[in-house]
Amino acid sequence: MTLNDKVAVITGAASGIGKDIAKVFFAAGGKVAIADLNIDAATATAAELDPTGARAIGVAMNVTDEAQVDNGMASVVAKLGGIDILVSNAGIQTVGPIDQFAFADWKKLLAIHLDGAFLTTRAALRQMYAQGRGGSVIYMGSVHSKEASMLKAPYVTAKHGLIGLAKVVAKEGAKHGVRANVICPGFVRTPLVEKQIPEQARALGISEEDVIKTVMLKETVDGEFTTVDDVAQTALFLASFPTNALTGQSIVVSHGWFMQ
Ligand code: NAD
Repeated sequence: MTLNDKVAVITGAASGIGKDIAKVFFAAGGKVAIADLNIDAATATAAELDPTGARAIGVAMNVTDEAQVDNGMASVVAKLGGIDILVSNAGIQTVGPIDQFAFADWKKLLAIHLDGAFLTTRAALRQMYAQGRGGSVIYMGSVHSKEASMLKAPYVTAKHGLIGLAKVVAKEGAKHGVRANVICPGFVRTPLVEKQIPEQARALGISEEDVIKTVMLKETVDGEFTTVDDVAQTALFLASFPTNALTGQSIVVSHGWFMQ
């Protein structure tokens, strides 16, 4: 099996993309910690994978809370035997034009995406460095790590920022065999995107169908949504890649919406 008992912490894994990554990593022989704000859904997802709790656990974690992150990571180490892979994936979306954007909403989004990435990275690196068996850190970026769209100022800002963080982790982690990369998906039909369709329709004054056709999928090569499995297979590739040859990179998985 590709992951050979490696331990993966996946944040925001009670739903959408993170949940599928947990399933794919588990099926590939990994042990998975499903870390999420929604502990009931995280526990249920873990129990679906492994009712014994030996190879899959739910962890209560608000990624913006330093103590919850540190305690959650410590509980993963105690229960699953270390940390080899971090997928920093928890995220939200809030849309609106900059001139009408509430400062509180800006700060909340940046905190979940950037403070969350920092806190989980710091805790994971401390453990990976101490273990001395290398590691893989994967950030869930977006095509919005490379491109901008109207109405998404904090999201585009945060997703660009993750690429910077990954490059620093790649440089600092190299001597410990720790790699860091970013996955940049196009639109995936998860609850995060389902919520945006009517919001964007209202903000742009167009129909929901037109939001999908003319905003979300307009630039793709085939008019298709990216799937959770497309993203999860990319995460598995990055998690199992064995050397520092592939580090500090960002991989776009978007049906050609953005081409490097
Ligand atoms: P989702 O809404 O289905 O899942 C997000 C999960 O994050 C939820 O389980 C939620 O409880 C959790 N979460 C939210 N705030 C949290 C916090 N403070 N601490 C811990 N967990 C928290 O969303 P998704 O579409 O699966 O998105 C996952 C990631 O993928 C996000 O970073 C998102 O920006 C990114 N992404 C999504 C798409 C897409 O089209 N869906 C495209 C590119 C990137």
